[in-house]
Amino acid sequence: MGLYRHSGRVPVAGLLWCILLLTPLALIGGAAYSAAMVFLPFIKLKWLISLLFASAVGFVVGKVCETAKIRNRGFVILATVATMGLAYYVSWGVQRFWLVVGELGLEGAIDNVGLADLLPLSLAAWVTWLFENGLWSMRGGADTIKGWPLVVLWGIEAATLFITSWMLALGTYGFRPFCEACERWTTLDVGIAELPVDADDPAWAEVRDGRLEALRHLKINPAEDRHVRIDLATCPECETGDHVLISGIVYAVDKEGNLTANETPIIEYLHMTRDKTNELREFAAEMNEAVALMRADDEELHEDATDE
Ligand SMILES: [Zn+2]
Repeated sequence: MGLYRHSGRVPVAGLLWCILLLTPLALIGGAAYSAAMVFLPFIKLKWLISLLFASAVGFVVGKVCETAKIRNRGFVILATVATMGLAYYVSWGVQRFWLVVGELGLEGAIDNVGLADLLPLSLAAWVTWLFENGLWSMRGGADTIKGWPLVVLWGIEAATLFITSWMLALGTYGFRPFCEACERWTTLDVGIAELPVDADDPAWAEVRDGRLEALRHLKINPAEDRHVRIDLATCPECETGDHVLISGIVYAVDKEGNLTANETPIIEYLHMTRDKTNELREFAAEMNEAVALMRADDEELHEDATDE
């Protein structure tokens, strides 16, 4: 018994898979993103494009790492930063090309802008030129943004790209345990029980130490805005990959009147023997039945009250 931790393994095949899929994504995505930023006129729309692009990159990186059986969150972060870093670099490198396309058309741009623009020195010169002249001065606008205000905009853009993709990648990659024996992800059975108890009940500490019988000492709290949910991760191929995830859920109504659920982990993926898992499933079935009866009684009481 113990809490699950990733083994940290990055399989060689998985690493190659990541490089093979994420490099073209960064190159093509970065070039396409740059075009969208050049040809879309409004700053707010540009920001939305940054957000969408970063979300897409983060989602793909998370999915690819999961498929590649990476068991290392640090690697997922590294893959995200590397992919976004390459895309970001390319987006700068091809920016002048897209601007010239806007002025001279595609053929004119191919004649005038070369691959040398992608080199760090040319890029540095280009960034310096933008700093001094501003982007929109090319079209003779009076409201040219240049100098430090332009740097602030670049900073907001970079922060949006890197932070959003980072969060999306980790969110997509998730927290599920990996079965090292069978070399596959476990599957998650969400909500095998929903208990009307508190997340800070002292009995959870005993459950965390592996004493499942403490579940029976949990105090019932019939408040309807909260419960504790039990999820079970199991390996489809063996009996050694069982892990239980226990989370406290609190519902709240936000300012716009929408119901939101707030999840806090109580026990994150405690390893279980198959015997313990069966014991837990039995307990869950009993509890679900008891809770259903309790709720039905409540409703009957309500109905009796309204009948009178
Ligand atoms: Zn297994």
